[in-house]
Amino acid sequence: MRSNKILTWKSITTVILFLTFLSGTLFYYLSPWPIVADRVIMLFCRPLYFITSCIILKHVVKHQLISMVRLLLKRKSALVNTLLVFGISMLFSNCSFSQKKSNMAEVKNQFYSKQDTSKLKVSDDEWKKVLDPMVYSVAREKATERAFTGQYWNSTESGLYRCKACGNPLFRSDGKFESSCGWPSFFEPVSPTSVKYASDKTYGMDRVEVMCGRCDAHLGHIFDDGPPPTYKRFCINSVIIDFEKK
Ligand SMILES: [Zn+2]
Repeated sequence: MRSNKILTWKSITTVILFLTFLSGTLFYYLSPWPIVADRVIMLFCRPLYFITSCIILKHVVKHQLISMVRLLLKRKSALVNTLLVFGISMLFSNCSFSQKKSNMAEVKNQFYSKQDTSKLKVSDDEWKKVLDPMVYSVAREKATERAFTGQYWNSTESGLYRCKACGNPLFRSDGKFESSCGWPSFFEPVSPTSVKYASDKTYGMDRVEVMCGRCDAHLGHIFDDGPPPTYKRFCINSVIIDFEKK
């Protein structure tokens, strides 16, 4: 006979997992420190979500989907499970952090120049002192902003896109195109030397990284599915570009 007790170990575990998941999600989306949030999700929450998914999957396999719906209508814990599944799928759908305005006061960045084109060799420690933490994270730690959250992914204004770290001209608005990927997309840089490339085999993928030609800041990646005439797509983080309106 099924126990009618509400406080079974299963319901307690479900509630604890759900609360952890909820706080993790809120922290992920609302945290003013998205990079920290990203790390927390990667190191702590994701394994937890994985375990939770396995528990739920076992539950689904055991009771079949129709039973799940019946349970959903009858039992509160099933509703909690369904919310968990929904939340997990929402979280797994994206791997990066959202772009938010930093609270960091404007610090003078002596490396930023619109005239000086000389190559920069600056240590990460030096960059850390002058760059906004989010810019630093993208530029020096190769982080990626969450899709559809950046400032310029759907911008159509005319002007010049410079490197946020050093001021180097990177792309023109004429070289930008509407892409559905959620990041600012360009088919060509200002000049062949505006950017440089490197092989990137992280996360089990084989990609080509795009970096600033002057300061080596990580900008994004290049793909072969762009429009003519180049058929290239420079997929760039909004965080690392500085827009100069024409
Ligand atoms: Zn640069």
